Amino acid sequence: MSKKQKNTKKQFISLVIVTIIVAIASTVYFNYNRIVGNTETQPSMEESAEMTDAELEIHFIDVGQGDSVFIELPDETCMLIDAGNPDGDNTVSNYISGLGYAQIDYLIVTHGDNDHVGEIPDVLDDFEVKNIYRPFQVAVDSSGNVRDGEDLAKVYDNATVKSSVNVISNQAFGKFVQKAYAETYTDGSVVKNAMVSTTYDGLKIMPKNGNSFAFEFFGPLRNSSNQTLIEQGVASKTQGYASVYQSKPSYDSLVKNEASPVMLLEHSSGSYLFTGDATVHAEEAVLGSLSDSEKTRFDAVDVYHVGHHGADNSTSDALLEMITPKMAVISVGAGNSHGHPTAGTLEKLGDYCSDNIYRSDLHGNILILANATDIQLKTNNVVVGNLGETEIELPPDEYWYVYVAGITAAVFVSGVIYIMSNGKIKAKPYKSQKRK
Ligand SMILES: [Zn+2]
Repeated sequence: MSKKQKNTKKQFISLVIVTIIVAIASTVYFNYNRIVGNTETQPSMEESAEMTDAELEIHFIDVGQGDSVFIELPDETCMLIDAGNPDGDNTVSNYISGLGYAQIDYLIVTHGDNDHVGEIPDVLDDFEVKNIYRPFQVAVDSSGNVRDGEDLAKVYDNATVKSSVNVISNQAFGKFVQKAYAETYTDGSVVKNAMVSTTYDGLKIMPKNGNSFAFEFFGPLRNSSNQTLIEQGVASKTQGYASVYQSKPSYDSLVKNEASPVMLLEHSSGSYLFTGDATVHAEEAVLGSLSDSEKTRFDAVDVYHVGHHGADNSTSDALLEMITPKMAVISVGAGNSHGHPTAGTLEKLGDYCSDNIYRSDLHGNILILANATDIQLKTNNVVVGNLGETEIELPPDEYWYVYVAGITAAVFVSGVIYIMSNGKIKAKPYKSQKRK
């Protein structure tokens, strides 16, 4: 052990010695005021009561390196966008059943990568799903044989150049499509088949009660005859983004991400943008396709679920200039091997969102509550310090677990703590309150 490591260890030991272990229940809330130009756009560290009249709740579930968002919509339906990794830990199913759900109205799989489709087969086992929205990507087995629904299999069979088809061969995606086309749900005493559709520009999910919200897909783009890729009956590896994509490097490694739809959720108190792992090329193509009236719907997005976990090849300047986000949420795993999110993306987001950037690797599960006029954001954890800081003040009147470089250091009473180690420093309430 080096001298430096020994010193760090000594610091930890002395920190533990001064620890006061007292448990009191606490949760962390940030009040967020969406009025543009208001000086109170910074989240307040003061605790406040949880909004009791929320119409919309958006749960960014901490699945490590991957995406999963569960949305409780104002018409009492619910939606799941993606479901993390195939690590067998049932994080997503447990989270959703913990909220009391047995059925999911809308399941959206943005694209076939493991970090998005991973737990979807388990979700289909554990819940009755009514409507499934899938990417225009064809499931094949490890030998390249198509194992998909009839419509996609037909596209693959008809393709003259098989290598031009956007195919996915991972096990989770194969299981997903098999289960999707066999999925049933009970409506009263009647057993019905789930509806399965591929996503495309213009597809909408309609609220059951008037216009309590709007949810629309803005990609993959249709052709000039307004046909979706399925209607065209042809394969397109680039999901409609070929003209801006084909000349770019890393075509094959990134092309799978291009199947991700761009989705906008609008509610009376705010709007929310989800882009899966769509790259800057898909962003540009979608922005270029917007009509003037659609542009006004994109011009002030309250919460941007940051594309591709904060990678450099998503979140273009053009996108940020268009949506001027006020808050950003990044679904990302601690210490991930991809370097997500990148410093460049964080810096760009900072220009718009200032400190209103929330990350699952630091903040844990992130919940947005919205009533008719306001948005409130709640996190499991709070980030208390930056790299290299030596004195960190914990929020008042609470007791906290403090994590240094991913390791639980100790439980601390509020006040100033001293940390010499280089690490991400986050704190979690000593005893977390049950959400519902
Ligand atoms: Zn991803």
